[in-house]
Amino acid sequence: MEKRFIYADNAATTAVSEEVLNAMLPHFTKAYGNASSIYKLGRDAQKDVEEARAKVAKAIGADPVEIFFTSCGSEADNWAIKGVAEREAKKGKKHIITSVFEHHAVLHTCEYLEKKGFEVTYIPVSDKGLIDPEDIRNAIREDTALVTIMYANNEIGTIQPIDEIAAICKEKKVIFHTDAVQAVGHVEIDVHKQGIDLLSLSGHKIHAQKGIGVLYIRKGIVIPNLIHGGGQERNRRAGTENVPAIVGLGVAIESAVKNIAEKAAVITPRRNRLIDGILKLPYTRLNGDRDKRLPGNLNISIEGIEGESLLLMLDQNGICASSGSACTSGSLDPSHVLLSIGLKHEVAHGSLRLSIEEDLTDDDVEYILEVIPKVVERLRSMSPVWEKMMKGESYQ
Ligand SMILES: *Cc1c(COP(=O)(O)O)cnc(C)c1O
Repeated sequence: MEKRFIYADNAATTAVSEEVLNAMLPHFTKAYGNASSIYKLGRDAQKDVEEARAKVAKAIGADPVEIFFTSCGSEADNWAIKGVAEREAKKGKKHIITSVFEHHAVLHTCEYLEKKGFEVTYIPVSDKGLIDPEDIRNAIREDTALVTIMYANNEIGTIQPIDEIAAICKEKKVIFHTDAVQAVGHVEIDVHKQGIDLLSLSGHKIHAQKGIGVLYIRKGIVIPNLIHGGGQERNRRAGTENVPAIVGLGVAIESAVKNIAEKAAVITPRRNRLIDGILKLPYTRLNGDRDKRLPGNLNISIEGIEGESLLLMLDQNGICASSGSACTSGSLDPSHVLLSIGLKHEVAHGSLRLSIEEDLTDDDVEYILEVIPKVVERLRSMSPVWEKMMKGESYQ
């Protein structure tokens, strides 16, 4: 097949859609007002911000007053966790529960709080990449301030039992936050129905621009500010509103949550063809539960190769993919997510994540399935590890 360009790394970031870009453009030039200004140019900007807020709220089943725009998903995670920690610490609650395979925006925030005197319990995940809600129940103590568990994992795509976890937190009167950056637009979310207290999301994973995010904070929960300054976002998050980005996010999220089931019906069979096709190679395994996962995610370990070399060779063939998380690639540490589901270091090193969307065609699938075996064969033929494996020698 002729060389193609295939972007299969939508979990790392997405292109700004044309619809989003068109909605944003006037806000750079004609409609450039400061949303805090009193004259019409400013009032119009304010109106557009509020319209976007309403769209975000509707998309996740929240009220507009519960939506706060932030500079990114990482800021939303930081604000939620540090904010709840500070608030609850005043009542003597200094224990946080999270999982071992969270995004670094959550893990590193928890580690920071550990240095500040908080205690953190890291819940393990099963070999399928799933959290057992009962583990959360058992970990909750009198002094637990917060449970923060991601909705869907960014590397292996597994979807966590959020409803059960939220119900346990409610019963135990513990605040529940979820990093839903990977879930929004891919699974139905209704924060009120599901009993979610705080939720983070990010624009650039759903075809808005980089550098815009949201923290949903349930009415009645007041947490201290992370960013101090002016009175924007009803005095809760300072900084002149990034109107173009906010408007773009409103359009992006409205579009992302439309037809979630229809999109999944298109993507899932293609994703499954990719999984089955790649698993035909010997010494491969699918990482993460096959069913309880995002429709567009597949993550496969291919023994005897280095993930980085695989990515470079896929790139030469026009395929953008990922190995481990984008944040850790470049370092030699294997992904903490893959280690958390029990992979050995050398197996975790040879992993491939494809995150696809409905624009990936059947021909693209065929092309990927043509390229990968060739590339893997080539890499294995050059690999001393593979040679030892084939001779039955220990290679560890
Ligand atoms: C991308 C991502 C983030 C960070 O969002 P940014 O907007 O890039 O800061 C947080 N959590 C998860 C699960 C992500 O995938």
